[in-house]
Amino acid sequence: MPPNSSATTGVLYEPETKLLEDSPAMDKDIGLQNTSKDYELKWVWRNIILFAVLHISAVYGVWLFFTEASWRTHLFFLVTQAIGIFGISGGAHRLWSHRAFKANLPLQLILLFCNTFAFQDSVYVWVRDHRVHHKYTETDADPYNAKRGWFFAHIGWLCCKKHPDVVAKGKEIDLSDLKRDPLIMFQHKYYLYLMPIISFVLPTAIPMYFWGESLNCSWHVMSMFRWCLTMNIIWMVNSSAHKFGMKPYDKNIGPTNENVLIWMRLGEGYHNYHHTFPWDYKASELGPYSWELITWLIDCFAKLGWAYDLKSASEDLIRQRVQRTGDGSHPLWGWGDKDQLMEDIVGTTISN
Ligand SMILES: [Zn+2]
Ligand SMILES: [Zn+2]
Repeated sequence: MPPNSSATTGVLYEPETKLLEDSPAMDKDIGLQNTSKDYELKWVWRNIILFAVLHISAVYGVWLFFTEASWRTHLFFLVTQAIGIFGISGGAHRLWSHRAFKANLPLQLILLFCNTFAFQDSVYVWVRDHRVHHKYTETDADPYNAKRGWFFAHIGWLCCKKHPDVVAKGKEIDLSDLKRDPLIMFQHKYYLYLMPIISFVLPTAIPMYFWGESLNCSWHVMSMFRWCLTMNIIWMVNSSAHKFGMKPYDKNIGPTNENVLIWMRLGEGYHNYHHTFPWDYKASELGPYSWELITWLIDCFAKLGWAYDLKSASEDLIRQRVQRTGDGSHPLWGWGDKDQLMEDIVGTTISN
């Protein structure tokens, strides 16, 4: 069965939907807005219960983090956040969804490991939904359509069956590059075996084995709290970064440059930029924007020769776009910027 078949269900993602004839939308309980009259909101109770248990366990994990966990676990926690976000942002997002750079086999294996560690479903499923998100941003075909509210874009979309348009457009999206990639298809095929070991057994066992953390503390901090935090950070790109912030590159689209994500320095905060230039490996602009963890890691691997063909929008291209469609919030470009102050121009010396 081809992986993109409607009968194939992701671990967390729900491709199945039901079309009802002459049935009104029944989604007012969470304030959703559907444009399709044929759409009935159907909860996925398995995921609702899973996420409820996860968040309660994660809160207990936060408590243990501050009251019981050793400093080694604190350090390990930070490292695992970076690992998970590198697997999603660097791997599933920039490498495999957007082909923003190329990676040699060792780097692909590292990214695939990090991606499995983050547990946001297989790269294949993630990329399919993300490409549909870019192509049909903020429409019914967008899996995390922000027009349906912050909560839906954040986690709600995983708690109900997909909109029929998402399924239909998901089938049309080109995934031939992934289907040709044996590593991606291997991860997809064996995800239910790989994920529990890499994402839960490993991070729970390491603190217990190497520095004597208790099972209770290790599980709640390193598995529940760690997984929950990584997911919420990534989900914020779909929710907050489609709701709050400025649009310096294109004011006509929903995605924004979101301050909390920018502050985290993980490289996914410049979402207005990313939707304008999705193939830029930095997912952000150069200059003051460049010190981002994931971009820095890709740059490090590029120095080793493991990452190559890094694609970037040129300064000129960005400037033209900012002038044409930006909302005016873009900071000063440099010489020739339309916002450059006259006193700065007059006070500048141009030699030779
Ligand atoms: Zn987006
Ligand atoms: Zn993207």
